[in-house]
Amino acid sequence: MTAYPATEDLDSPAARRAGAVLTIDLEAIKDNYRRLRKVLRPVTCAAAVKGNAYGLGAKQVAPALAKAGARTFFTVNLDEAIEIRSALKKTRPSADIFVLNGAGAGPVEEFIAGGFMPVLNSLGEVAIWSAAARRAGHGLAAALHIDTGMNRLGLPDNELDILAGEPERLAGIEVQYVMSHLACAEESGHELNGIQLDRFRQARARLPAAPGSLANSSGIFLGPDYHFDLARPGAALFGVNPTPDRPNPMRQVVRLQGRILQVRQIDAPQTLGYGATHRMAANSRVATVALGYADGFLRSLSNRASAWIDDKEVPVVGRVSMDMITLDVTGIAAGDAQAGGWVEILGPHQGVDALGEAGGTMGYEILTSLGARYHRIYLGG
Ligand SMILES: *Cc1c(COP(=O)(O)O)cnc(C)c1O
Repeated sequence: MTAYPATEDLDSPAARRAGAVLTIDLEAIKDNYRRLRKVLRPVTCAAAVKGNAYGLGAKQVAPALAKAGARTFFTVNLDEAIEIRSALKKTRPSADIFVLNGAGAGPVEEFIAGGFMPVLNSLGEVAIWSAAARRAGHGLAAALHIDTGMNRLGLPDNELDILAGEPERLAGIEVQYVMSHLACAEESGHELNGIQLDRFRQARARLPAAPGSLANSSGIFLGPDYHFDLARPGAALFGVNPTPDRPNPMRQVVRLQGRILQVRQIDAPQTLGYGATHRMAANSRVATVALGYADGFLRSLSNRASAWIDDKEVPVVGRVSMDMITLDVTGIAAGDAQAGGWVEILGPHQGVDALGEAGGTMGYEILTSLGARYHRIYLGG
């Protein structure tokens, strides 16, 4: 079971200074990594840690993943790659770190100095990396990204044709993986999954032999055909359900608690908050809690989400403000909802997927929107 911070932590000066506390369970992340590895066995499990490890803190998360066994990490840009390298200095100094934005994401010398590998997304990038290898006088490692239907990054069909006909363009490049990325993996019945799988197999057959990598979190659950030699999960490591039409096989990783600043009695026919979007019933009580859209509690959750006080659901009423939300606590005993008390926003009652859905988005965006103002507590590691 997930351990949650004791009440003393919520009474700490740091928690009170911040007004809201984000608890990140590094043991749950490690456990999620092991669960994915079990599904993948014997295929290698990398970790996508872009976006500051999906908002949870690359500095803490990357070493935890390394301790669980991760050796390969995917970042978006060179700044992230540098940060991950530094975070892994003690636990995994020789980690393989790939940069998804590609060979144009920074000076070649900085890639080489840091030992970073670009994901080559076009023939132009292949040329850059091959020339860099020639200048360096030794081979340079990289991944080669083939577009199989996302139409976003990666070599399109015409560039794949050229490369298949002229494999010498890869001279000096040590292709660690030929990779592609699935567009609809979380919809297991989507026809594009099978189409991308076929295109990926065909592309690999036309290129010099190299290990393959196709699956993100959800792709892992499409079955072994999608696993190839390396999977690249991100979201599932951090508790997002990779199988939205089935129960979540992952452990929840984050808990978010907000402090009650004030509780007030409001009578009909008064309205609440900006825009007067909520009209109070007679004899209502409202708790004002110290987090808002500046903290990543999306404004689209106005009048739509809930929080919890112990096991009781309390609805968000009125607009979400920049720094506050208001909760209808009429049904809660006065002693259980008072200034200085805490409410649960994310936790056992409401995971990131549920909050994302309530806000018209998804768990990914809830995670990556988590604000910088929270007092962050890391469990384990
Ligand atoms: C973000 C990303 C991943 C990880 O995706 P999840 O859905 O979070 O598992 C894998 N591969 C690429 C190319 C990505 O951009």
